[in-house]
Amino acid sequence: MKETQAKKFAVPRGTADILPQEVAVWEKVETTARAILDLYGYREIRTPIFEETELFARSMGQTSDVVQKQMLSLQTQHKGDAEDIAKAGFSLRPEGTAAIVRSYIENSFEKKEGFSKLFYIGPMFRGERPQKGRLRQFHQIGVEAMGPGTASPLVDAEVITLSMQLLKALGINDAKLRVNTLGSVEDKQNFSKYLREQLKPHLKELCEDCQNRFERNVFRILDCKNKGCKAVVEKIHLGSAPLSTESHQYFTEVKTALTDLGIKFEHTPSLVRGLDYYTHTVFEISSDALGSQDALGAGGRYNNLVTQLGGPQVDAIGFALGIERILLAMPKEESPKPQGLDAYIIPLDEPSLKRAFRYLEELRRSVYEFKVKDNIPKNFSIDMGYGLGSLKSQMRAANDRGARFVVILGENELEKEKVTLKDMSTGVQEEKDLNDIGAITVKLAEGSI
Ligand code: AMP
Repeated sequence: MKETQAKKFAVPRGTADILPQEVAVWEKVETTARAILDLYGYREIRTPIFEETELFARSMGQTSDVVQKQMLSLQTQHKGDAEDIAKAGFSLRPEGTAAIVRSYIENSFEKKEGFSKLFYIGPMFRGERPQKGRLRQFHQIGVEAMGPGTASPLVDAEVITLSMQLLKALGINDAKLRVNTLGSVEDKQNFSKYLREQLKPHLKELCEDCQNRFERNVFRILDCKNKGCKAVVEKIHLGSAPLSTESHQYFTEVKTALTDLGIKFEHTPSLVRGLDYYTHTVFEISSDALGSQDALGAGGRYNNLVTQLGGPQVDAIGFALGIERILLAMPKEESPKPQGLDAYIIPLDEPSLKRAFRYLEELRRSVYEFKVKDNIPKNFSIDMGYGLGSLKSQMRAANDRGARFVVILGENELEKEKVTLKDMSTGVQEEKDLNDIGAITVKLAEGSI
C-alpha cells in the first residue's frame, strides 16, 4: 500500500470544539433555558440541520444579507444515492424560524392546537467572515409562538419578557432591550417609500452596498456600520415615518404591557431587522460585555410568513438568542470540577486483570439496574486502568480520578473469592464476597461504608 504523508487537521475556520471541560457550562445554559421555557409553556421541536435552500430564500427574503452572501449549500461529489440533494438545492440552516414554519405547516399544527409555543436549541450555519462572537457554526436558543391566538400585544410582551427572563436566569442582568414596530405589510411598504424619499437626496453619500440596498432592501441601510451611512441616517426623521392608527395602537399596547411587567426598554425607530418576514414588533437585545458584535439576540412578529410558505393564515412571533454570545456575557464562574468516579477497580496481577475486567462490567450492569429500579437521579461512573501497575500507582490513578471507592482484586482475594473495598475518603477498608455484586452496588449507591 502506498504510504500517504500524515496531515494534521484543524477545526474548520469559524467553528469550535466544545471540549469536555467546557460542556458543563453549556449544559448549565441549556438546563436553565429549558426550565424557563417550560415555565412559559414552550415545547421543544427538533428539525433537520439542512433544508431546501428555497425555503430560506422565500422566508428570509431573496435580498437579505444571509441569503445573498452567507448560505452554506450542500453539494454531492458523485452521482450517488444523494444526488437529489445537489439537484433540489439544500443548505445548512442559517436560522431556525423557516424550518419551524415549514414543520408547522407540514404537520398541520393549526388543526391540532390553537396556540403553538415551540422552542429549539441547536447549531446554525452562516458563511460569515469569522471574528470574536461571529462564527460560521454557532448555536441558538429560539422560540416561535404560532397560531390564530397569537395576534395579541400581550403575546409580544410575553415573548420579549421570556427572552429577558432567560438571560436574567443566566446571570445577565445588564442586557439592553430595544424595541420598534414596522407596522403591517402595508405600513412597511409606506415606510420603505418614505425612507427612499428621505434618503434620495443623500444617495451619493451612501456606501456602495447601501446604494444597492436603496432599491433592493432599503431597511438594511439603517443597519449599516459605515460612518458616512450612519451620518445620513441620523439626518432623516425616522420618528415621523408613516404608521397606521391600528399599528400605532398595537405597539402602544405592547409597550404598556412591557412596562406593566417591569421590563425596561428603549424605543429605537431605526431598529428594522434585515429579514423580509418581520411585521409589527421587532426587538434586539444587546450587552455592553460584548465587543463589536454586541447582539445577544433578536426577534419579532411575522404575521404573514406562514401564509407565504403555503400555510394557513396564522400569526406568529419569535426570537433567537446566540449561545456563544450568552457565554461571553455571562458572569464568569469557576467551572465545576468534573464528577469523580464512584469506584475504580484495581487488579494486582495477571490472573486478576481478566477477572477485574469482568468484575468492572458486572458492577456497571448491576449499578445501572439499581439506579433505574430505585429511580436514582445521579449518574454513576466506574472505571479501571486496563493494565497492571503497582498498588501505589493504581491508587494514585484512582485518586486523580476522584474515586470514592476502590475495589482491589489480587491473588489472595481471588483464592478466597473476596475483593477488598476501600473508602477513599475515610480510609476504611473491608473484605466483600467477590460474587456478591449486590453488596458493593448498595455501598456505591449509599456513597459510604
Ligand atoms: P440573527 O438572526 O442574525 O439576529 O441572530 C440572532 C442571534 O444569534 C444574534 O443576536 C447572535 O446572538 C446570534 N448570532 C447570529 N449570527 C451569529 C454568528 N455568526 N456567530 C455567533 N452568533 C451569532
